[in-house]
Amino acid sequence: MRFKPRPFTKPVPFKCLYCLDCCRGRHVYLTLKDIEKIAGEGHDPQDFVTFSIEGGKLRFVLSVREWDLGCVFHDPETGKCRIHPVRPLICRIYPFMVSRKPLGVEGEKPFEYKGEKLWLYYDESCPGINAEEPETMISPEEIAELGIEFERKLERTDMGGFAELIERLEGDGDE
Ligand code: SF4
Ligand code: SF4
Repeated sequence: MRFKPRPFTKPVPFKCLYCLDCCRGRHVYLTLKDIEKIAGEGHDPQDFVTFSIEGGKLRFVLSVREWDLGCVFHDPETGKCRIHPVRPLICRIYPFMVSRKPLGVEGEKPFEYKGEKLWLYYDESCPGINAEEPETMISPEEIAELGIEFERKLERTDMGGFAELIERLEGDGDE
């Protein structure tokens, strides 16, 4: 699924329709905190963490199923996420995105939040945006907050921290 950005400048109605599209064929970046939370629910990082080098940086990415490139935590029968309460931060941000630079989309404008200058977008291809019977309204402020949190946590995610986390989890498992 390709993200089709549209400027997100005011609250939009939203309801996830569980169409599966965003849980398939995407790189879902993980922060160390995400890995720790998911592992805390009894999932072995070996079963859900893979690695990718992007722009010279090591990224931790959610594993996908071979047969449809769907996320390993996606339940194909219900269309729902099997780890919804501890799903990665980036999954909580989607179908929105936060950028430090404009993407060149018509109508975009900077969003000032807590002294930061951001550009916010939503994915036009997500059918849950502007859904007929929305469950909630999503505001630019809440997405900006999550976006900044994600950026901060991703910055602190590295191989050293991952090795420490694995050691800690293995230590917990031995107790
Ligand atoms: S693409 Fe939108 S509606 Fe479909 S599963 Fe993802 S968030 Fe929900
Ligand atoms: S963790 Fe859940 S919400 Fe995120 S991609 Fe996987 S199934 Fe979808």
